[in-house]
Amino acid sequence: MRISHQQVESRREFFRATARYGLLALVSVAASLAARPRTPGGQRCVNQGICSGCGIFPSCGLPQALSAKRFKEKG
Ligand code: SF4
Repeated sequence: MRISHQQVESRREFFRATARYGLLALVSVAASLAARPRTPGGQRCVNQGICSGCGIFPSCGLPQALSAKRFKEKG
């Protein structure tokens, strides 16, 4: 069996394209991870932002909770 020059080029181009698009996918994933909004301590809201009656309100550090705590402190 003889492999033609065209088949070798085609295979080479396939591996180049695989490496190129694989690298592009990795860069895209890294960029999306880096662009994720960060919350203090990696917290996530568990009560749809309704802080009154939320079980973790005293220890929550999310902006909504901090704002509600400030509001409570003022009276
Ligand atoms: S205290 Fe407020 S911000 Fe924090 S998890 Fe509960 S509802 Fe969400």
